[in-house]
Amino acid sequence: MVNKIVRDGILTTVYNDMNERIEIVGDITLNLEYWDCECVENYIHPITENHCEKCNALEEDSPNSRENEVIEYIHRILPQQ
Ligand SMILES: [Zn+2]
Repeated sequence: MVNKIVRDGILTTVYNDMNERIEIVGDITLNLEYWDCECVENYIHPITENHCEKCNALEEDSPNSRENEVIEYIHRILPQQ
């Protein structure tokens, strides 16, 4: 969900309610703080990791993750309440 839009010259940065940068392309929302590697499972990585040790994918060669998948991923890794 879009929380805030910051315009700086020609650059527009959109943030979600977690204050993460997102990009909306058509009906797809990408989360710019995460990227997808080539793995079938657990393929979402934060941009603080630049390499997947399982499939050797590099962050710079990989697409950003979809926002809805990032939300699912975060719910999965967080300890259950
Ligand atoms: Zn991988």
